[in-house]
Order: sequence, then C-alpha cells, then structure tokens
Amino acid sequence: MVETKRVSGFNENACTRCGICLNKCPVLQYSLDKSKTEIKRLIEGKETSEVLFKCNTCFSCNIYCPEDANPYQLILERWNDLYFIRGAPSLYTFVCPTREPNIWQLLNIFLSTTEKRWILRWIYNTPDPDKPILLIGNYTHLFPFIIGGSKLLEYFSPVDLIDHWEGGAYLYQGGFLDVVQRIAQNTKEDFDRWSNKKIVATLDAVQYIYQEVHPKEMGVNHHQEFESFQDWMLNMLNSGELTINNKLDLIVTIHDNCYSKVSNGKYWKAPREIIKKCGCRIVEMEHNKQDSLCCGFGAGASWVRNISIPFDIIYEGIKKFEEAENTGAQALVSYCGGCIYLLWATRELLGSKIDIFHIIEILRMAIGEELNYPDDHIERAWDIIAIITYEWIISLFKPNFSIKTVSYDEEKSTFRPRDHIFLKLIRISFNSALIRKVYRKFFLLMMRILNTR
Ligand code: SF4
Ligand code: SF4
Repeated sequence: MVETKRVSGFNENACTRCGICLNKCPVLQYSLDKSKTEIKRLIEGKETSEVLFKCNTCFSCNIYCPEDANPYQLILERWNDLYFIRGAPSLYTFVCPTREPNIWQLLNIFLSTTEKRWILRWIYNTPDPDKPILLIGNYTHLFPFIIGGSKLLEYFSPVDLIDHWEGGAYLYQGGFLDVVQRIAQNTKEDFDRWSNKKIVATLDAVQYIYQEVHPKEMGVNHHQEFESFQDWMLNMLNSGELTINNKLDLIVTIHDNCYSKVSNGKYWKAPREIIKKCGCRIVEMEHNKQDSLCCGFGAGASWVRNISIPFDIIYEGIKKFEEAENTGAQALVSYCGGCIYLLWATRELLGSKIDIFHIIEILRMAIGEELNYPDDHIERAWDIIAIITYEWIISLFKPNFSIKTVSYDEEKSTFRPRDHIFLKLIRISFNSALIRKVYRKFFLLMMRILNTR
C-alpha cells in the first residue's frame, strides 16, 4: 500500500476568528462572543464547553463561514484527537463491517430470499468494464428493495462491498480521519483493479468523498469519473431515456442531508427537479438546504456516553419529524440512503404517520414500477430497531475500541451471522402491535432519562 499524507480541510490562515460559524449554527446558536471564544479554543486544541459534544456534524457552518475556512473540518480534526484519547464507543461496532456483530452481518438473519439473492449478486459481481459501476453502498444495502429488481440497474454493473465503508463517508463525519485515509487507499486498489472509467454512487456523500475528500484531504487520487445517482437520474429524464408514465400527484417535503451542503449546496437542485418531474409538489421545511437539520445520525458523532447514543440520535431526529409534519406534506423524501434507515426507525419509534420515500422510489413509481410500500419499510425498520436494541445491550458490557482493520478477511466472515437467539426473540416480539406500542413508550421514557443533549 502506498503511504499518503493527510491534509486538514480547515484553513487556519483564512479564519479571522469572527465566530459567525458557531453563531449561525442551527444547533448551538451561540452568542457571537461565546462563538469567538469557542472557535479559538477549537483552533488551539483546547476542550470546548459544548461544540464537540453537541455538534450534529451537519456541514452548515462551512456555508456560513464568509472566509471559506471550513470550520466543520476543524471540528472533525478535534474529534479525531478525541478518538485517539478515548477510542470509539462500543456501540459503534454496529457500523463497523470489520467487527462483530455489525448491522450488515445481523441483518442477514432477517433478509428475505430475494434480498439475499440481490445482495450476493452485488457482492460477488466482477464489474463489467463496458458499464458504469453503481456503488450500492452500506446503507442502501439495509433497504435493498429500494433499488433491487428495478430496471434502473440494467444500466450499471452494481457493486456492494461493505468494507468500502461508503468510501469512509460516515466515518469522516465522526472524525475518524485516519481510518478514512486507510479506506481511501483500499478503495483505490479495488477501483484501479477494475477497468471501469465511470463510477456512480447511490449516495451523494460517497461521490463527494471520492471526488473531493480522498484527493484533497487524504492524499489519494482516483482516476475514475464519479457521478451521483441523482444527477444520473435527472440526466436520464432530461434525455428522454427514462419517461414518466405515472405522475404521482403527491405533496412532499424534502430532507436535505448533511453532505448535500458541500460545495455550496451542489446537491440540492437535482432531487427537486426529479421530484417535480415525477408530478409531486414540494413544500419546504422551516430549515432546509443550508440550514437543514440532521436526521439524527450526527448526535452519534458528538457522543458523550455510550449508553445514551441511540436516545440522543432519536431525540435529534424528532426535530426533523416535527418540521416535516408542520409542512402538511403527505410524504418526506430523502435522497440519502443513510438518512432513510434512521428516518424509518424514528418514524416507527414515534408512531408518526408521515410517509417516507427514498427519491429512487419516487422515480420508480413514476416510471411505472410497483413497490411493496410501506410494508417492506415498516418491517425493515423493526428489524433495525431490534438490531439497535440488541447491539445497545451488548455494548453496555464492552469497552471502547480502536478500528484496527478496514478490510474483511478473505472469506468475508463478518458477513456471516452467528446464532443470535436473543436478537431473534427481540424481533419476534416486535411482531406484536402491543409490544411495539409498549416499546415506543419505553424508548421515549429512556430518552427523557438518558438524553445528554
Ligand atoms: S457542523 Fe452543523 S451542528 Fe456542527 S457546528 Fe457546524 S453548523 Fe453546528
Ligand atoms: S471559521 Fe469562518 S466563520 Fe468561523 S470564525 Fe473562522 S472565519 Fe469566522
């Protein structure tokens, strides 16, 4: 493996210490004076009163900064320092494909035969060099029916390598920067071994990571062309290769994910155009685009206590639901597969009635494809809630850890679930409407007791 040098994305020389970034932050909302103090402490590497323990890793401060100094990346650097001191919380095993038990391994217990067939095909696929690669990605993998079986896949050679870690996108947001660098090197070896010139990512975050973060911050240059799936879908509609046969006539609101705010919001336009072409009317939430609130995931990045992480995450997600429901929209549309799994889990835990669609599902319905909506999503949300509950209980008895390996062993052993009888029992109990209701109440109570926000 070639040694590469990591470069901080924060431009300290450009920063005037004006404090605007943390003053405008929709989460922290500091006074200007406090904001100036806190940014100085971050730059000097001193402990801050709250920033590192309340930031939702939403990217907005980069847009607010008038000097393009990238304060967000400064926070990531400080989280990386903290990671070297205290490690990752034991619950983080959940999203580490090279540790056991992780969500992808456990989810195998609940995948349908059809889903397993899709996933195995994507995992063991040797890319066809004449087609663009489609990176299915770790999070779309959790809801493979979002794209599995669709004619959209015919244009691609789909690849689903869980130990690509979405190029490190979600680790980057948690400040695991040294691990992201190792992932950048690993993925480059895979991409260079394949001869495909174009790579399309279902997540805009993943396109951004490969195109911007790996070369500029991790010192790893990829030679392939990267495109986001949103841009690909819009181009297909504009060129007439995909046609709308079934205008949807839905009123929807849009969740702009954290990574959509990079490069001054370059990802905001395409999803809105696609949604309109599909016959939907858009009503925006109070916080949208540059001010958009996090789906909740970001609360895990600024974790304080392992025990409270799931409750902090759902607590942050509630704000998104309140705003979405206040618009009067029939559905909330996300163009990020990472947010979708949390939004669905939150919807079920809150008992919310608003529909949630991935933008791929909106397009699929509009081109005339049938979905088993919402049953597939509701059942998968409870699979995931069961896995989170199980992992949370296990994590209470385990210490923090460091991420040592970023690749599977040769037999992809971490993808094979062992016998997790207790997890199966939890999931079976969630088939009961009464248990779901009781669990919702329990979760909300625990949120009040344990929440650290
Ligand atoms: S990333 Fe978002 S939550 Fe964190 S400081 Fe910046 S604006 Fe605030
Ligand atoms: S990062 Fe930008 S907004 Fe924040 S203090 Fe520095 S110059 Fe001001």
